[in-house]
Amino acid sequence: MSSKLSFEGRVVVVTGAGGGLGKVYALEYAKRGAKVVVNDLGGSLGGSGHDKRAADLVVGEIRKSGGTAVANYDSVSGGGSNIVKTAIDHFGRVDVVINNAGILRDVSFAKMSAEQFAQVVDVHLNGAYELSHAAWPYMLKQKFGRIINTASPAGLYGNFGQANYAAAKLGLVGLAETLSKEGLKYDIRANVIAPLASSRMTEDILPAHILKQLGPEKIAPLVLYLTHESCKVTNSIFELAGGWYGQIRWERSSGQIFNPNEETLTPEALLHKWGSINDFTDKPFKPTEHPIQLADYNDLITKARNL
Ligand code: NAD
Repeated sequence: MSSKLSFEGRVVVVTGAGGGLGKVYALEYAKRGAKVVVNDLGGSLGGSGHDKRAADLVVGEIRKSGGTAVANYDSVSGGGSNIVKTAIDHFGRVDVVINNAGILRDVSFAKMSAEQFAQVVDVHLNGAYELSHAAWPYMLKQKFGRIINTASPAGLYGNFGQANYAAAKLGLVGLAETLSKEGLKYDIRANVIAPLASSRMTEDILPAHILKQLGPEKIAPLVLYLTHESCKVTNSIFELAGGWYGQIRWERSSGQIFNPNEETLTPEALLHKWGSINDFTDKPFKPTEHPIQLADYNDLITKARNL
């Protein structure tokens, strides 16, 4: 058995840590020696209202068991730099950022107002941007950082009534993928989780016997592992639920090359070859870069010119 992963000396910020998944993370980090900023504005599932008790109760629980934590009540949307300031003022550094705070405003796309769309994007995506951006200079300077963005199966696959949520959640994937590239040489690692767990977010959606299997404590081990200093994993997306953990990655079909002149590269030519464009059976590729960054893209262009 390997030795216990310690977070002694590390400062961890968990957003939305007054309940649900975030609370479990905060308690577990504190148990392992981290100093924790417990951020939560204490609102409803839809994002309305404020209640300091949500964060205070978690801080109280951590302190009672001998851990170190401080509360922050700012909204991640608009409050990102204040949240980091709380970490710096109390603990002098920031090592780990868990972008976890979230709300739902589910409604079918036909009925979704611009406000309902923007509010959800604002909390999930802009909130993660703000907090990560405020923490970034400290991470660059200390040449260490770990960031987790919380996506969702809804963001990876889409979900009825969740156009706002799904768009924000997939945005968090793009954000983490880019931070992982910009942060790599500073040992700043960014990953994405797409969890399914019992919380107030799922209690009205899933049946009780399923919820029983999906305790949020089954999500925390991956979050802690990915943010430990010994873990070098970055730029990865993990789907997890009820004790099952898997990785998600993109797949590109082998594709079809067309001679790029106006006689041959037409909508009709694409229609004719639609099957090959979408054929994943012959050597599908697992891209981690845009094709223009791939050496073999030049080969493709050369081949196309020679057709
Ligand atoms: P939750 O509602 O129990 O927890 C979310 C917390 O975020 C709440 O305590 C809330 O007060 C806080 N919060 C909301 N808006 C905030 C803001 N603007 N600033 C600061 N705090 C704010 O839900 P949860 O299930 O624990 O969700 C945690 C994260 O996991 C969310 O991002 C959610 O979208 C994501 N997620 C959850 C599931 C699931 O199955 N529970 C599935 C996929 C994704």
